[in-house]
Amino acid sequence: MKKKNLDTLCVQGGWSPKNGEPRVLPIYQSTTFKYSSTEEMADLFDLKADGYFYTRLANPTNDCVAAKINALEGGVGCVLTSSGQAANFYAVFNICEAGSHFITSANIYGGTFNLFGTTMKKLGIEATFVDPDASDEEIEAAFRPNTRCFFGETISNPGGNVFDIERFAKIAHKHGVPLIVDNTFATPINCRPFEWGCDIVTHSTTKYMDGHATQVGGAVVDSGNFDWEKYADKFPGLCLPDESYHGLTYTKAFGKKAYITKLVSQLMRDLGSIPAPMNCFLLNLGLETLHLRMARHCENAMKVAQWLEANPKVAWVNYCSLPSSKYYTLAQKYLPNGSCGVIAFGLKGTREDAVKFMDNLDFIAIVTHVADARTCVLHPASHTHRQLSDEQLKEAGVAPDLIRLSVGIENVEDIIADLEQAMEKM
Ligand SMILES: *Cc1c(COP(=O)(O)O)cnc(C)c1O
Repeated sequence: MKKKNLDTLCVQGGWSPKNGEPRVLPIYQSTTFKYSSTEEMADLFDLKADGYFYTRLANPTNDCVAAKINALEGGVGCVLTSSGQAANFYAVFNICEAGSHFITSANIYGGTFNLFGTTMKKLGIEATFVDPDASDEEIEAAFRPNTRCFFGETISNPGGNVFDIERFAKIAHKHGVPLIVDNTFATPINCRPFEWGCDIVTHSTTKYMDGHATQVGGAVVDSGNFDWEKYADKFPGLCLPDESYHGLTYTKAFGKKAYITKLVSQLMRDLGSIPAPMNCFLLNLGLETLHLRMARHCENAMKVAQWLEANPKVAWVNYCSLPSSKYYTLAQKYLPNGSCGVIAFGLKGTREDAVKFMDNLDFIAIVTHVADARTCVLHPASHTHRQLSDEQLKEAGVAPDLIRLSVGIENVEDIIADLEQAMEKM
């Protein structure tokens, strides 16, 4: 049969029940799995045979949902994690160790900014934050002999800037390292980074993929395209024997799946950031409507962005699908069918005015969340990005007056009416 379309994969991917099996993906809420002989169990531990033995390493519910996300992104393997933070940490840490360096776009989520700039530094891994709008020469100057990867977000949270995936894939590959892209906001419905040369995709599945704010989760997807062996000196963890696995070499034993296999059999084994099967079940319900929700999020957000742009109380709007956006050309290239529901904008007036506006909202809630079915709003400078100094805020592409509006899938006239009444009371 021909390759299925994304809509069909959203609904049916990952779980194909056999005769008499449940139509709906079951929740295997079990830590462990039974075998009759010592030898069968030993083969699993030696990675000689495939099978379940302990949920920290693999669980059937989790695997089915991972397989769906893998199919949506077009990868060779996917691992689900307990959060988006864990996904980004694993994605980088799988190929970095004390003494390594990596390069990241500065326009990234606040949590990732802290992880890369503070916590990973304590592990001896240093990140250089670059302005993604800088010239190739400036960006290339950040590479060092110990650089191990390049990182960026397809659409940055909260700024809404678009990452030039093809350009950065070329630069990363020229320097012998993979490009890792956090595709949380675009989702594979609107952009599939592997088609533009990206090597590894990460997600916070907490956002659109779940879409209903019911679970915190993450995913790492491997394209299988990066040639680790060609740069074996940079990636000893993949290309040299792993003493913690009886001297097995991942690239030799698993070929295109070397990276994702190491991520499970080493990082997940030792660090254990697995999602609960129940959470994967909830995530799967969300994924079944991802294609419908993304279309509606984009349609609603476009109308809201146009309304904001025409509003005299609004100082500026950044929504990459608007022709006035600095990122419109990149959005047309990477996100031709729509970007996401998240709009960044600033109001004329003081920081207090922005706070008053948000407090006046009726059903649009102030929540530390984004990208779900319900419209919500957040002021990053006083919420998610509180830990960052003004300087770091600027570096992360977050203006102090930036309001992040996550447009949901309600009736758009009601959303606009709520924004309008809150502005009138300002
Ligand atoms: C929310 C988010 C994360 C972190 O994900 P959690 O699931 O909250 O840990 C990472 N990247 C992006 C782009 C996000 O929006």
